[in-house]
Amino acid sequence: MAFRSVFDAEALRNEFEMAGISSQLIPRIWKHVRQKPNVDLDEVPSLPAAAYPILRSKFRAMTSSLSSNADSKDKLTTKLLIRLQEGTGSGCHATGCGSSNGDAAHMGRKEGPTEKMWHCWHHQRMHGLCCFLIGVGGNGAMVEAVIMRYDTRLGKYDGKPRPGGLRATLCVSSQVGCKMACKFCATGTMGFKNNLSSGEIVEQLVHASRFSDIRNVVFMGMGEPLNNFNAVVEAIKVMTASPFQLSPKRVTVSTVGIINAIKKFNGNLPSVNLAVSLHAPDQETRCQIMPSARAFPLGRLIEALLEYQKKSQQKILIEYIMLDAVNDLLEHAHQLGKLLQTLEVNYFLKSLLIHLRPKFEHREITEFCLGTSGLELSAMPSIVGSLPVVNLIPYNPIKSSSNFRTSKKENVEGFQKVLRGVYNIRTTIRQQMGTDISGACGQLVVNLSEQRSTEGACLLSDIEDLRI
Ligand code: SF4
Repeated sequence: MAFRSVFDAEALRNEFEMAGISSQLIPRIWKHVRQKPNVDLDEVPSLPAAAYPILRSKFRAMTSSLSSNADSKDKLTTKLLIRLQEGTGSGCHATGCGSSNGDAAHMGRKEGPTEKMWHCWHHQRMHGLCCFLIGVGGNGAMVEAVIMRYDTRLGKYDGKPRPGGLRATLCVSSQVGCKMACKFCATGTMGFKNNLSSGEIVEQLVHASRFSDIRNVVFMGMGEPLNNFNAVVEAIKVMTASPFQLSPKRVTVSTVGIINAIKKFNGNLPSVNLAVSLHAPDQETRCQIMPSARAFPLGRLIEALLEYQKKSQQKILIEYIMLDAVNDLLEHAHQLGKLLQTLEVNYFLKSLLIHLRPKFEHREITEFCLGTSGLELSAMPSIVGSLPVVNLIPYNPIKSSSNFRTSKKENVEGFQKVLRGVYNIRTTIRQQMGTDISGACGQLVVNLSEQRSTEGACLLSDIEDLRI
């Protein structure tokens, strides 16, 4: 029988409520499990007597187990290989995933590929940061979570040494496989296998917390997080509550652009960062490399982002993979710059206001602002400065996934120069971490000669630094 994770908050809450047990006791259980992940739930102290049979019969402290871990040579990156419980079908029950996630979500994990089929997958993380290896053994699917450690004191800010210190970011997976089929991504060739439950997502944080004090969480692992919306929302709510207490501002969800989910993102997850994998400045190129773009046309995506930006007043992070001669030319940089300027909702209003202020009353300007943008005048300055931040990601060639090539260093730098210099868009180049251990995992399916080249990577700040 498959057990639920004790971190499946909704399931546990429902069970407790049905038994007349206060759900306020739940964080106490989580705190105990976080400190002792292998604990028998009978050992959690000070719960009402009625809680123990429920916990014993339906839940486990951890449904996943750490299969292995590997450190990069510089010790800055640790990859965790996590084995999920077999045949739980947890994605279906725990996430309330709904029909939009496809039938596969309801198949249960036993319907997943065999070990032969999935001997190993090297996942190039195109939403974000990481490379993932997954497989299915006799005991359930495996996913990887990656811990990346940064020293925020490196480099300068405003001409002075940066404040801060060592911190760790955890990159988590939200699905086994992915249905979005991006052509540059090995996972895209797998198809969708299953949703992780919210508990399985949180358990990645519990495993990682044994290695590092995690400050940031990014949903840039395997899967499209917004295709597992309910579980991701619930997992983030757990991660940002006691005992984990992550700041929502330090959580980033990366999406290829699921428009209907973007529209409800801010309402469900205020203050959580949204990153969008744009990867091309026009619909045609986007469709070539991301088949899902047909369902989520660029024009409608930009409208949804504009709406998100107005509502949330938050910066959007744009991720852009650099593919040689596909999307990395200077003309693409100009197209992207112009496209992103449309997200600066008050780009024109800003200059207009400068002219209006001496000539019109405050009330008139306020009415004008509300009429044209739906925003109060007081909201304008913060929005005006909110052009998206672009993160350029040097492509890591993977034989099994595509014929794409890594952009030349000068193309990446030229692209960055155009966005920064001509369009005043803050543009960084993705820092490459843990290349050596990614290679180790990738060797199962990828030859060393196919490993990523880091030559094109300028080591700049990563996505979590973009708010600084
Ligand atoms: S959305 Fe695309 S890049 Fe992200 S995991 Fe799925 S196939 Fe890969």
